[in-house]
Amino acid sequence: MRLGEETEARAALEKAFQVDMGNVRVKNSLEVLDVLATYETLETEHFLIRFDPRHDKLLARYMAQYLEEVYPQLCDWMGYEPPGKSLFEVFHRAKNTSGHGWFSARMVGLPHIHTIGACAGKMVALVSPNDMDKQFNWARVVKHELVHVINLQQTNFQIPHWFTEALAVYDEGYPRPPNWDQMLVRRVPAGKMFDLQTINLGFIRPSTSEDWQMAYCQAELYAEYMVARFGPQALARLLDAYADNLDTPTAIPRALGVSMEEFERGYAAHLTQLVAQLTTTASAPPQPFQELTQAVEDDPRNPDLLAALADAYLRRKAYPQAGKLAGQALEIQPRHQAATYVRARLQLLVGDQEGVVPMLEKALDPAAPHAPLLRLLAGLKYKAEAYERAVELYQLGRERFPRDPGWTKLLARVHLKTDDHQRLRPLLAELARHDGGQPGRSPKTGSAGPGRPGFSGRSALGPRGPPDRGAGCGHASRAGRVAGRTGEVPDSD
Ligand SMILES: [Zn+2]
Repeated sequence: MRLGEETEARAALEKAFQVDMGNVRVKNSLEVLDVLATYETLETEHFLIRFDPRHDKLLARYMAQYLEEVYPQLCDWMGYEPPGKSLFEVFHRAKNTSGHGWFSARMVGLPHIHTIGACAGKMVALVSPNDMDKQFNWARVVKHELVHVINLQQTNFQIPHWFTEALAVYDEGYPRPPNWDQMLVRRVPAGKMFDLQTINLGFIRPSTSEDWQMAYCQAELYAEYMVARFGPQALARLLDAYADNLDTPTAIPRALGVSMEEFERGYAAHLTQLVAQLTTTASAPPQPFQELTQAVEDDPRNPDLLAALADAYLRRKAYPQAGKLAGQALEIQPRHQAATYVRARLQLLVGDQEGVVPMLEKALDPAAPHAPLLRLLAGLKYKAEAYERAVELYQLGRERFPRDPGWTKLLARVHLKTDDHQRLRPLLAELARHDGGQPGRSPKTGSAGPGRPGFSGRSALGPRGPPDRGAGCGHASRAGRVAGRTGEVPDSD
């Protein structure tokens, strides 16, 4: 099944089913083959795309075009071309089972894979976006999976999980999503990072969903670090080392000329430096409640801590405590931005709008704005149809927090409302670069399935992937970002 040799798979599965009729994975896999028997196949020069002709005919056609378009670029980037055609299967709802159910059964014989796309080396399965409550950027998913298809075969499946994900995410070229920045700001100083000894576990057996995200985030940063420190050919040299069957402690010195320890030290320093930059440009992540409570006990006249704890109570809907603490902070520092924000929110909650806007205006420090206060004030101006002031405030947010595309979305909303297409257009182009935002990931790549020998030639990875990266593709994904939604969309691998 993982090699895409489905005729042979059916024969083996039917034999197995006769021996053990109670084996769920065997039964599910046979049912997947029954569903696939109703599918059509679109064959192109390098791909076989199987799809449900009742629902996904158009999708398959565009997918074929897109895959053929990115294929030469990716093969050129990685210096390798798979010997055979790659199989992409798109699963749609059938027999009372969702497309996701069939996709999952296709990959592991069981339901509930927590992704929307996965790669087994020579074949890729994905859920049809036409069978999802929330659409997703399928182009981004298939391109990400195609990177895996190429480099898994290129290294005869010897590439470690972290490095195949590093290449796939790095190739996307999308800006890191803001919640990844926050995660780094919180975890790096606390030492809660993976290293090359532990990162593969973050993909295969993450203890939390954040660990999973962290593994993807760090993998991509490993790629970035390698290029920054060792030059544009570093990724290609490491890929070659894995293709030559070396393990990581041997591959790193050969490819990069430094010991594994020195490499890790340099990477850790790179992360620390990155976090130092992010601390000034990203919104600060909330501190854990317990830590805040203790901090206020230790330093009860500190307005920053009092306001932060007030905010924590506000988020817990403990309004009296929030109000009391905000009041204490404001007694000490009358225009304290975070405390003013909490007070404003409390007033709005009880419908007391009077005076809120002037209070926020007075507290706002344009040189160092408090992001929630700025967003609230701008939102109130927008509601009051004071559009030019809203534009100024959102623009300030964009300048002060350049890594958060949320400000751009909000600004675009004002221009959309006022039909100011001239100012809207460049913002939409900018937002398109963030589309699909956050990589998602599954434990299903890397070592999945048997390989096929015969990689030819050396790798050629340049500093970044092909020049089309603006084409709206990349990793697995969250959709609806341009539309300003923040809802979760499932991950692909
Ligand atoms: Zn992946």
